[in-house]
Amino acid sequence: MTFQDLNLIEPIQRALKTAGYQKPTPIQAQSIPIALQGRDLLACAQTGTGKTAAFAIPILQALQEQVQQGGGPRRPIRALILAPTRELAIQIGESFEAYGKFMGLRYATIFGGVSQHGQTRSLDAGIDILVATPGRLLDLMGQGLVKLDKIEFFVLDEADRMLDMGFIHDVKRVIRQLPTRRQTLFFSATMPPIVAELANSILDRPEKVAVDPQSSTAERVEQSVYFVSKNQKRELLAHLLNTEDIPTALVFTRTKHGANRVVKELDKKGIKAEAIHGNKSQNSRQQALANFKSRRTRVLVATDIAARGIDVDDLTHVINYDLPNISETYVHRIGRTGRAGASGIAFSFCDEEEMAYLKDIQKLIKLQIAVTRDHPFPMDKEMEAPLAKAPQPTTNGNGRENRGSSTGKSRNNRGYNRQRGNSNGAPTANKREDARY
Ligand code: AMP
Repeated sequence: MTFQDLNLIEPIQRALKTAGYQKPTPIQAQSIPIALQGRDLLACAQTGTGKTAAFAIPILQALQEQVQQGGGPRRPIRALILAPTRELAIQIGESFEAYGKFMGLRYATIFGGVSQHGQTRSLDAGIDILVATPGRLLDLMGQGLVKLDKIEFFVLDEADRMLDMGFIHDVKRVIRQLPTRRQTLFFSATMPPIVAELANSILDRPEKVAVDPQSSTAERVEQSVYFVSKNQKRELLAHLLNTEDIPTALVFTRTKHGANRVVKELDKKGIKAEAIHGNKSQNSRQQALANFKSRRTRVLVATDIAARGIDVDDLTHVINYDLPNISETYVHRIGRTGRAGASGIAFSFCDEEEMAYLKDIQKLIKLQIAVTRDHPFPMDKEMEAPLAKAPQPTTNGNGRENRGSSTGKSRNNRGYNRQRGNSNGAPTANKREDARY
């Protein structure tokens, strides 16, 4: 199946090409035709399966067709996407921008924890599509700044997480304000009874689709974690690069200074590395990327923001020099490798202060990441104590604890190919932190 087979309009086809998508993922292949028919949809799909495009593409297409038929834009908000966290909301907003790049539709993303001014300004300008977290949305609705009476498309994304986070009443309050005549697309990674009940109450004779969770990013990539003190990470990195078979590695650091430091340290040890981050000029970023792609440089060190849009065919290894404090970012990072049936391996370094991040990541991916203890810089056992309470690490199914896939499954079972660009890249924690990336 190709995107052409889905009868998508030209500007969307072009945007998908620009994003480097070659063919629809299974959730897209199943959901898009149903949504384009105007049917309600109940979809069971995890993050990493391409679910965002599965709802964003049909909504963009329907809105664009309206614009063409109506001879120009009308600007009541016609599509609402509710997401549980601001990171996810930002990511969804960026996806709409990427897929709708060649259309004249307007978007806004609203979420709590920041001043509402910038958000209300974009609302005042008139938008077609609103991505929101429930709390801020209710807040702005209460102030009369958002009206939902013309909504035609409603998406509830990550419904199970929404309920886990205690947003059920907020969600219901929002839904009460929506017109009853609308198309609803309901996405959830899991479908426990309480989620199914909510789905039943808001969907009208939905078509149901589900994709094999085995194909999610976290399951495709072979992952392992190394417990190591902060000040020994650089030694461990050099050790791995010198002793393991690592043809190419994308190394993630939390800050741009961190990225520079890693490059310097590797350089001292004779390992060619380049950094790519916000302080570098566009030219030097492109040069570093070109060197990496052509394998003139073996190691590229990047921050999450700078790594947006980086796509390297046959990237063999992702190394999390620092663990991200937002679990979804971990999934985005490791998703850079293991593409198109190639082996994907992700190593993560975890120091004393990152134990909580690791716990969150494992909760999100619903897997225990295998621990590699066999390395020259092991962390003091006591430091690991908080994690020892968690279930034992999963082995890779062949009895080895280290270097294991967290699932024990074949790593060549990727569900889809991608050529270039993660245009909707990783979210950031907050605006204040951005300067460091
Ligand atoms: P999602 O599950 O929506 O968070 O998407 C996971 C990742 O897959 C994102 O980085 C998307 O950019 C990427 N993606 C979505 N659809 C495709 C596709 N058809 N081909 C390649 N990559 C895709």
